[in-house]
Amino acid sequence: MAHPVSSALAAVGLDVGGTKILGAAVAPNGDLICSRKEPLQPELDGEDVMQTMASVAGALAIEAYEKLGLGRKNVPCLGLGIPGTLTKDGNLTFSANLKEMVGINVVSGLRGTLDTRVFASDTPIYVENDANCALIGEVALGAARGYEDVMLLTLGPGSGGALMLGGRLVRGAHGYAGEFGHMVVMPGGYRCKCGRKGCLEHYVSGTANRRVSIEDMAGWLALGLANLILAFDPGIIVIGGGFGVGVGDRLLQPVREILPGMLKEYSTEQVPKLVVAELGENAGAVGAAINAIQHVSSQAGQ
Ligand SMILES: [Zn+2]
Repeated sequence: MAHPVSSALAAVGLDVGGTKILGAAVAPNGDLICSRKEPLQPELDGEDVMQTMASVAGALAIEAYEKLGLGRKNVPCLGLGIPGTLTKDGNLTFSANLKEMVGINVVSGLRGTLDTRVFASDTPIYVENDANCALIGEVALGAARGYEDVMLLTLGPGSGGALMLGGRLVRGAHGYAGEFGHMVVMPGGYRCKCGRKGCLEHYVSGTANRRVSIEDMAGWLALGLANLILAFDPGIIVIGGGFGVGVGDRLLQPVREILPGMLKEYSTEQVPKLVVAELGENAGAVGAAINAIQHVSSQAGQ
């Protein structure tokens, strides 16, 4: 980021994906102090992924300490974004893209793996679904500032989704809410790693099936979004994820043109804004950090 960073370190956030870990150290106002990207090899087991998470967090903390002139053990809190369904205390119960981690308690696992020379042993760790983290980031600092009814879709291998209604994240009864990428849009279509066939993800992710043109992709995405808009009536829809941010308006502009025709109930002004995630690839990591900061400050206020 071009503007000068704040002199304080508020949190380190990690966005753990199926193929890479993105990390960010952020200031209290959300300014990026430093960021990191580490590829994840497909053959790694859960323990290896945890080690990589700990090493990315450690490297970020050390870089931030050096940049800000801070001593060791000065990360106030850690936030994790994980692609999957988590219990409140951090057990990963389902993940299509991080299968090797299912059954692991991510919070206690990371706590046991962190470098004790870099982090204090009681550093609070908060975990949240990765797409929820991206939404939290975009609402706090990005494209959805000022909105309370927000839908976010990440497009790419392992697409995800998140929903905020009335300013509150919607998690559902079992934590599955927002898995928009696994809505079936083509019964009997391409097989998805979730076990179903014809999931939206395969028609809009840009990688799962290269035979889908941008025009066709726009049609699929518009169909998926129109159904979701009728269900949730968001004020804004943010498109993130590696592919979503990369393709940007080339995909979104045709979708903007198709959507009104699919939403007969809506006047032109009522069709939600459709925008690219402003925090780009770092949305999940920054959002994970902000989620942790928000937890710490809400507990301090109690
Ligand atoms: Zn699926």
